[in-house]
Amino acid sequence: MKTGRNEKCWCGSGKKFKHCHYGRENQDPVSLGEAIGHSQKNASRKCCYVPDDLKNECSKKIINAHTISKSGSLKEIADESNHVLGLKISLPNIIKNQGKLIPERIGINQASTFKGFCSTHDKSLFACIEDRAFIGDDEQCLALMYRSVAKELYAKEGGLNTSGFIKNGDKGKNRIDQMFIQSFATVHQTGINTAIKELSELKSKLDDQLLRKSSGNLSHLIIEATSPMPVAVSSIVSPITDFDGNLIQDLGDLNVVAEQLVFNSFSSDGKGYVVFSWSKSSTKVLCFIKSLLAIDTDNIFSALIRFFFGVAENTFTSPKWWDGLSVEQKGKIEKLIMAGVNPFEYDPCNILIDDGINFSGWEVGSLRKINF
Ligand SMILES: [Zn+2]
Ligand SMILES: [Zn+2]
Repeated sequence: MKTGRNEKCWCGSGKKFKHCHYGRENQDPVSLGEAIGHSQKNASRKCCYVPDDLKNECSKKIINAHTISKSGSLKEIADESNHVLGLKISLPNIIKNQGKLIPERIGINQASTFKGFCSTHDKSLFACIEDRAFIGDDEQCLALMYRSVAKELYAKEGGLNTSGFIKNGDKGKNRIDQMFIQSFATVHQTGINTAIKELSELKSKLDDQLLRKSSGNLSHLIIEATSPMPVAVSSIVSPITDFDGNLIQDLGDLNVVAEQLVFNSFSSDGKGYVVFSWSKSSTKVLCFIKSLLAIDTDNIFSALIRFFFGVAENTFTSPKWWDGLSVEQKGKIEKLIMAGVNPFEYDPCNILIDDGINFSGWEVGSLRKINF
C-alpha cells in the first residue's frame, strides 16, 4: 500500500501525499491542551443567524442569546440563588466526570445560551415570546421554532469544525490507526453535512415565513398546564421511534431526507407549556405526535420526561423538582441522558416506552392542535 509522494493522498483530502499524510507517524500527537483549546474556541464562535435579507441591520455586538427565556422560564424553575440543573457539555467537564454526563448547577445567565444572534435581532425576533405572555399565536410559535433551529445549526456547524480537528488526531500514530481515524472522521463529517443541509432547508422555510414571503405551512401541538414546567428545553430532533417503540424513520440511510421535529418546553406568566412544531408535510413526525396523543393524559408528563432527557442536551431542570425525585427516578433520568450520548449503553429504540417508572409534578391541562 505504498503511496508515491506526488500521488493523491489515500485519505481522500485531495492533496498530494507529500503535503498530507507523508511522515504523519513521526509528527507530534495532538495534546489534551490543544483539544481543550479547540473545544473552547469552537464554543465561542459568533454570528447572527437572521435571514440574509436582514443581515444589513445587524448590530456589531453578538450576544449570549438565551434559547430558553431567562426571565419567564428559567427564573420560574431556578432555586433561590438563581441556578438550575443542566448538562455542561465541554471536553474538560466530560474528562472531569470520567465520560459521564450528570446534571449540574448552572446560573440562569449562562443556561441555554449560544452566540447566535446580534443584540438587535435577539431583541426584535424574540420580543414576542420574551415580552408578552404566551398565547400560542403564529408569531410566537414561529419565533420558538426559529430559535431552536438556529441553535441546532450553530451546534452542527461547531460539530463540523470538530470533525476537521479529529482528522488531525492521527498525528504520531501508525498507518492502520491513521486509516481508522480518517474513516471515522469522514463518516462523522458526512453525517453532519447531511444534518446541516436538512436544517438549512428547514431554516430557509422559516426565513421566508419570517420575511412574510410565504407561509411555511407549519403544524404545532401546544400542551398547557396551570403550573410552571419543571423541565425547560429547546431542541430539534429527527425522531426514530414513536412512543410505542415502533420505528418511524431510519436515519442510517442518508439518501432519505430525515423529518425534523422542533420542541420547546417553558413557562410563561406562571403557566407551563410544551410546544411541538414541524413542517406540515412531515407525515412521519405526525405519526410520532399521534402516538403521544394516544397516551392517557395522566401519563403524558412521564412520556415527555423520557423524550426530553433521552434526546435533548439543551435541558434545564428545577433543582426543587429534582431533589424531590426518588433514587430510582434519578437513575432513570441519568440513564436517559447517557442514551443520547452513548447508544451502546441503552437501546435507543426503547427509550420512549413506558417502563413503569413515572414522574409527577406537572398536570396536563389542555392540548391544542394547530394546522394538523
Ligand atoms: Zn492525507
Ligand atoms: Zn443580527
